Amino acid sequence: MTAQAVQPDELAAVIGLEVHVQLETATKIFCGCPTEPTEEPNTNVCPVCLGLPGSLPVLNEGAVEAAVKVGKAIDADIPEETRFHRKNYYYPDLPKNFQITQYDEPICKDGTLEISVEGERKSIRIRRAHLEEDPGSLQHVGGDIDSAEYTKVNYNRAGTPLMEIVTKPDFRSPAEARTFLAKLTEVLEYLGVFDSQRDGSLRVDANLSIVPAEEIAEDGTISEEVLENANRTEVKNISSHKGAEKALAYERNRQKNLVQRGKAVAQETRHFNETHGTTVSMRSKEEEKDYRYFEEADLPPLQVSHWKEEIPIPELPDARRKRFQEEYDLDLESASKLTSTKQVADFYEDVAEQFDPDLAATWVADNLLGELNYRDMEITDVAHRLDEFTRLVELVAEDEITTKNAEEIVLRSMLDDGDAPDDIVDREGLGKTGEDEVATAVQEAIDENPEAVSDYYDGEGGALNFLVGQVMQKTQGSADPGTVNEKLRAALDE
Ligand code: ADP
Ligand code: MG
Ligand code: ZN
Repeated sequence: MTAQAVQPDELAAVIGLEVHVQLETATKIFCGCPTEPTEEPNTNVCPVCLGLPGSLPVLNEGAVEAAVKVGKAIDADIPEETRFHRKNYYYPDLPKNFQITQYDEPICKDGTLEISVEGERKSIRIRRAHLEEDPGSLQHVGGDIDSAEYTKVNYNRAGTPLMEIVTKPDFRSPAEARTFLAKLTEVLEYLGVFDSQRDGSLRVDANLSIVPAEEIAEDGTISEEVLENANRTEVKNISSHKGAEKALAYERNRQKNLVQRGKAVAQETRHFNETHGTTVSMRSKEEEKDYRYFEEADLPPLQVSHWKEEIPIPELPDARRKRFQEEYDLDLESASKLTSTKQVADFYEDVAEQFDPDLAATWVADNLLGELNYRDMEITDVAHRLDEFTRLVELVAEDEITTKNAEEIVLRSMLDDGDAPDDIVDREGLGKTGEDEVATAVQEAIDENPEAVSDYYDGEGGALNFLVGQVMQKTQGSADPGTVNEKLRAALDE
């Protein structure tokens, strides 16, 4: 890029992501070692994942199946045949001195994933998604990578199946990139091939360059030539959505500043410092030729085209949200909340089966999710208490307790103390007050408050509310305000 000072608002950020996700399989991708983490280092290992001479990889079908599911979910092309390559480099966490990955025939090509940006749908193109193995992990003792006294290596992770998903540079802001990561995670979890809670299950390399804003066409596209020529940085190994957004925001600022001062941006690989929210230069960007890719002769090419038809995938979040809107007549906001995770959506459908969908939506989307969120809990923490939760909704639906008590006392106590709704109702005496008791309280309220009664006859709106309040007090809040209101009016208008 020519070095010429430019105004900041004439500059635009261009962002592309390379996302590594761990596929949930019981065993590693090329051997039978378990993927389940263990405390004890170097125990989930065998000659294959240790790269011992004479050992041969055997492809795990489960990993291929997961990759095909991902391909279907992002509407990618899955070729007739896919194959594996060796990516050669030396690093102590890589016992074979090469990583088995995919190169020119990845299992998925040309997919898309839709995200929602400020209420508008935006399609992010996915260039490729391929299978590969994870290296082991290093533990630097007594400092970081530069200052450590020594370093320990643990091969338990080596050979864990990963999928690397590479987008086109379609993001225009760090927030869009973060939204994409959230959406991708959601889709992968819906597919059942990914666990976001698992340590190290997501690692992101974030690429960013700065181009003159005028290079962005009306439809948001940028010419290949401009993209090629823009010097970009790649921030490696970011482990969270928020981290990716922060690293990109920092990088956008840093590069804009350079360009504004007429300086060139170096094409390089950078490291994200999570604590400081900054990025630092690691090395000049490596190139493909540095890795001497060649075909993995120990693994024959794999015929995959027929898998696409044979492997079903579940209904995905977008489709499920749309169905919720139609089938249950929910507004977009409720439908979105209720499909935010597969577990929430399943839970809702179980409740909606038994009650009016609208009532079920209020109870799951507003009351339950709200209270869970407040307590930093997840639906998965209460999914096994579905029966208790439906019993609570039933108590409300059948008018046995007031909505207010159900929300503010029963639900909260269910979550805080783990008690069953009927026990809480009994303990707190929340059963709705019997007819007689309400009638007596109504009569008392009328007798004791002649002034309010005459105000009521004079047409003063507040008087009735006052009397309702008196009755509620007498019944200790267990009467239904609507019923009290009716009964009072009936008695006064007699
Ligand atoms: P390389 O072959 O150098 O790894 P790729 O074409 O594979 O480059 O792209 C790697 C990542 O960089 C992709 O996520 C892509 O979207 C992103 N990328 C490509 N060009 C740019 C650019 N000008 N600015 C930001 N990101 C870019
Ligand atoms: Mg690349
Ligand atoms: Zn092994």
